Formats: sequence, structure tokens, C-alpha cells
Amino acid sequence: MTGSIEKLAIANRGEIALRILRACQELNIRTVALYSEADREAMYVRLADEAVCIGPAAASESYLNIPSVIAAAEVTNANAIHPGYGFLSENADFAERVVESGFTFIGPPASAIRTMGDKIMAKQAMVENNVPCVPGSTGAVGADIDAVSELAAEIGYPVIIKAAGGGGGRGMRVAHTEASLRDAIALTQSEAEAAFGNATVYLEKFLERPRHVEFQVLADTHGNAIHLGDRDCSMQRRHQKVVEEAPAPGISDESRERVGKLCADACKRIGYVGAGTFEFLYQDGEFYFIEMNTRIQVEHPVTELITGIDLVKEQIKVASGQPLEYTQDDVVLQGHAIECRINAEDSKTFMPSPGKVTQFHAPGGPGIRVDSHLFDGYTVPPHYDSMIAKLISSGSTRDEAIRRMRRALGEIFIDGIKTNIPLQLQIMNDPSFGEGELSIHYLESKISQTGS
Ligand code: ADP
Repeated sequence: MTGSIEKLAIANRGEIALRILRACQELNIRTVALYSEADREAMYVRLADEAVCIGPAAASESYLNIPSVIAAAEVTNANAIHPGYGFLSENADFAERVVESGFTFIGPPASAIRTMGDKIMAKQAMVENNVPCVPGSTGAVGADIDAVSELAAEIGYPVIIKAAGGGGGRGMRVAHTEASLRDAIALTQSEAEAAFGNATVYLEKFLERPRHVEFQVLADTHGNAIHLGDRDCSMQRRHQKVVEEAPAPGISDESRERVGKLCADACKRIGYVGAGTFEFLYQDGEFYFIEMNTRIQVEHPVTELITGIDLVKEQIKVASGQPLEYTQDDVVLQGHAIECRINAEDSKTFMPSPGKVTQFHAPGGPGIRVDSHLFDGYTVPPHYDSMIAKLISSGSTRDEAIRRMRRALGEIFIDGIKTNIPLQLQIMNDPSFGEGELSIHYLESKISQTGS
């Protein structure tokens, strides 16, 4: 159901709950914070117009508890629900229940979430819409091992076996030779069955030193869709992004326009609505689609800073049925922006470090934005993701954005818990990062070399 949104329930926590709340305040929409017992003291709970506890600390009993979320939105007379990222944001059943219960869901139709949630279906949709994909099988593999061997030989080793229902970097295995292919398929199938309840696997060429480059899109219910350029998120550890930037360094304007337009056109044809991200691996000048995220992403601020477009407000507006305010020609990429994820964890061992933040000082000055729910005396609960802040810098050039980030990392002060600020400083001071265009394996190899 779409229509004017008067009161919106925020089915999330942490910095993104605060980010959504800020967008609502600017749009004159009243807010309901849905929080777990562990988040009672959170800033967004205090700042929201109303707040409802939806269950105990364990996410499965609160932020992932569909009946509890819907009931809380109902009792407060909210007429829209924003799922943020993570938790229920890419759960098609949830999106369906939200709409069936009469709320506006801030996100795409459940059918789009369902299609993109299945990697084989998502890839097929992309192939049909001329979005470049990794060479591989057109569907599931496994039944006819001779046919798979033939296909793998044709594509060339190494190949990767991936679970159709996989996520979070799990359910994948690389085969370097024909001899290991059969085992790789069988193992991935049984792991996928156990982890995702779906044994379907498919095969792709394994790219050895790709970069992660993704495109942001926005689409409305009137058939309009635009892209907002790309982001590079190649700085990763264990498939988790650590640093993101926009635009992606070294991509020509021509390629960016070409691939961005393919993504926007695909959105129009599949009837996509809302904000979304097309994720690609990029190697030797070629883009290869890997998956689509049907929600707002952690790294959305870097795109906001180079386009001047508020993605969360646009998300809410298109969900309520308003047409996009921008045409493709209105989207002008200006300058450069970088985001460092600040986590409550040991900078060397990566062990989580929850606990009381005795002092917090946010950096400022030209070109610095801080998206964080921290405050003096806040206790980081041990139950959730360790990200506690996003430090975002922007400048007229990439070099200026890096210099500002270094300064901000020096200014920020978080006492009482350990953080990964030392690692972020190391990255910002790394001459190779300064040059840009590093592969998704760079950070892990640097960490293992320096022992940091
Ligand atoms: P998930 O949904 O689990 O995040 P993705 O399909 O996005 O799965 O893949 C996660 C990561 O696995 C990618 O970011 C990349 O590092 C690696 N990967 C996936 N497919 C390939 C491939 N064909 N070649 C090389 N690496 C890949």
C-alpha cells in the first residue's frame, strides 16, 4: 500500500535507526523507534516521537521477530515501516506481511526481494536485461557431472561453486582442477542445504584479483529509474567492507555512464522501486554482476556526498508513491568521498570490544560527516554488529578526501572500549591505498604481512 506517510516505524537499531529518524524529521514524518531491551538507552529511542520495546536482546526475539515488529507498528498507529539494512530488510516474507497488514514498506515489492535473494534467478534477470555477468552456468549444476566438467573446461579454471541461497560470503568453494570439481560441488551442496535449506548450486568463473565496484540506483512507482554513479568497496576483511569510496577510482566516465544506465534500465524493466545496489566484480576493465542488494546500504553516505541527493529521504518519498525528483541529467558527481567504518573491536585481533564508552568526541571541520549513535556513557551491547560509527570525508579530489579522513581519524576520540581506528589510520596512510584501484584481497594480505 502506498500513500502519504504520517508516522513511520523504524525496525532497526544503531546508526541507521538514527539516520532514518533524521530523514523523517526533515520530511515532517513522526517516528516510532522499535527497540530491544538491550537498546533501551539508545539515542534514537530518546529522539523518536514514540518508542516501543519489541523484545529481549537476542535479535531473533526482537529485531527479527516479524509478529512483534508488526504489532508494535500497529499499536502506535504508524502507517509505514522502514527496515534499514540487515535484520528484516531483505526478507521477502516480511515485506509481504508489512504490505498485507496495511503499511507502506520502505523498500521494493516483495517479488523483487525474492528474485534478487536467489542468486540464480537474480543472474538470469540480469542476463535478460543485458547487465554483464560472470561467465558460468545458466542455472543449477550438479545432476550431470560430465556436462559441468565440460562447461568448466570451456570457461577455464579456476571456477567457483556458489549456493543459490547463499549470503554473507558463505556457501562458496573454488575448484582449481577438474579433479577437485566433483568434491567442490558435493561439499557446497551439503553445506548449502545445512546453512540455507537449499542445496541448489551454480558455477562461475573465479576471478583472481577483482575489485568490488557497485552502482547505486533509485526507482519510483511511475516507471522512472536513475543511477547515482558507482562506489568502490574493495577494502574488505572476511567479505566485510571496511572502507568505501565514491566515485570508484580509475573508472572512465564513459564506462560509469554505460554500466549505470544498464542498471537503471534493468530496474525499469523488472519494475523495481526504491533504493538498490548492483554489486559487480571489476577486473581488467570488465564489470561482472554478482548480486543486487534491495535496500539502503551502510555505505550510502559517500554517494550522498558526491551527488547532493539524500538517499533515505528519496527512499521514503518513492515508497509513498511520489515520483522521483531527479532525472538522470540532474545527477552530477562532484568531488570525492570516503567512508571508514569504525568498529568496536581490537584493531589487531579483531575481537569484539563491547562495553561502556566513557568519552566520545566527534571530529568536525570542512568535509567531515559522522553518522553514529554514540554518546558519552553509552554502552555498546555485545549482541549485535560491532559497527559503532561511520566516519565520512569529502573533498574536491580523492587526495583531499584522504587528507581530511586522516585528520578526522586523529581528532575522533572514543574512550572505554577498543576500536579499529588504528587500522583505519594505517589504511589512510598506506601509499598503495593512495594510488587506489586495489583488489578485494589487498587488505587481508596487508594485515597478514604486517601482523596488524
Ligand atoms: P554474498 O551474498 O555471500 O555476499 P556474493 O555473490 O556477493 O555473495 O559474493 C561474495 C564475495 O565472494 C564477493 O565479494 C567476492 O569476494 C567473492 N566472489 C563471489 N563470486 C566470485 C567470483 N566469480 N570470482 C571471484 N570471487 C568471487
